[in-house]
Amino acid sequence: MRTRKLYEDAYIKTHRAKVLGFHESGALVLDETIFYPEGGGQLADEGYISGVRVLDVQEEGDLVLHYLESYDEFFIGREVDLDINWQFRFDNMQQHTGEHILSGIAQELFGTKNVGFEIGRDMMRVDYDRELSWQELEDLERKTNEAISRNTPIVSFFPRPEVLETLPYRSKKVIEGDIRIVEVKGYDICACKGTHVRQTGEVGLLKILSRENYKGGVRLGILCGFKALEYFHKLVWQSHEISTSLCAPVLDLIPALNQVFEDRESIKKQLILKDEELIRLKLETMEPQGNLIIFEDVLRGKSLKIYMAELMVDRQGSLAIFSPEEDGYSFNFITSAGDISKLGKDFLAAFDGKGGGRGESFQGFIPVGQDQDDMRKRIEEWLEKYIQQ
Ligand SMILES: [Zn+2]
Repeated sequence: MRTRKLYEDAYIKTHRAKVLGFHESGALVLDETIFYPEGGGQLADEGYISGVRVLDVQEEGDLVLHYLESYDEFFIGREVDLDINWQFRFDNMQQHTGEHILSGIAQELFGTKNVGFEIGRDMMRVDYDRELSWQELEDLERKTNEAISRNTPIVSFFPRPEVLETLPYRSKKVIEGDIRIVEVKGYDICACKGTHVRQTGEVGLLKILSRENYKGGVRLGILCGFKALEYFHKLVWQSHEISTSLCAPVLDLIPALNQVFEDRESIKKQLILKDEELIRLKLETMEPQGNLIIFEDVLRGKSLKIYMAELMVDRQGSLAIFSPEEDGYSFNFITSAGDISKLGKDFLAAFDGKGGGRGESFQGFIPVGQDQDDMRKRIEEWLEKYIQQ
């Protein structure tokens, strides 16, 4: 069996073919196909065969394997209608061709080699074997878009071996069988089996979106054409949302955001000062000696720790401090002398809590039901009784 691969002409959107048979994997094999099988960094085509959804397309030697949602309606010899998801295919053609132009110009400008390429669903990834700065990338992006705007033709052909030898073509890896050359006139000659547009203008736009150092070179995230436009839509929408929140023009968001961070730092500082003041006032009302049971609603985190330390200065006795949480109380037990862990463990057992500690301190959490006031009373009674024992 052999499948004639018609995606050489990337613009055939529908076609009538015949079922040749079924692969051992179950996949449908046709005499001819317009479905591009996954490979060369490009995703498999999507679409339908006689109304049945194509889930995956793979290549195996001379065969193109179509994996379908259902095989019930297919038999050897049946004529079928092929229908590819044109928008998805054209998106891939835009990305793929954009990469050729970019890589051809990158080689010309910086001598870089393309050492990795993948058209993902979200973004195209291109790896070069040399680091490129953002400044160099801006230059590269600009020249690529100039090449796109010149609308030069893109041709593909299978040269004879003696002709191939004379061609200065780029090749991502050693390709077996007939080598297909894709030429972007004036910009790039590359061995490739993927699908491309006919004129550079159809790429529309190429935008480099991300850059990271990768294996001694650089990895770029790129979008072309309608996918770039879609990305731009999302960026604009988000920028407008942020712009409205910050009451700042879209192109002036960074200073406005910096102001928000500055304000936040200043509020944090003010809160620390207020907490210090609050701690001072609270300490004035507390007995300096003996045992204390405190339910603390306001102080949190570092401020609570400072408060606890201040309460224990020169104290002969123990401190039990509780902070209300959404569904319970977190607590800290501290004592001036001895070991408080038995009290802690008994308390956890009595209130079904979780926690731990040793020596002079013990921390944990106890869950609380709906009646918070009742809970406070129960905690106080339990602790008072325990201490009296
Ligand atoms: Zn290609």
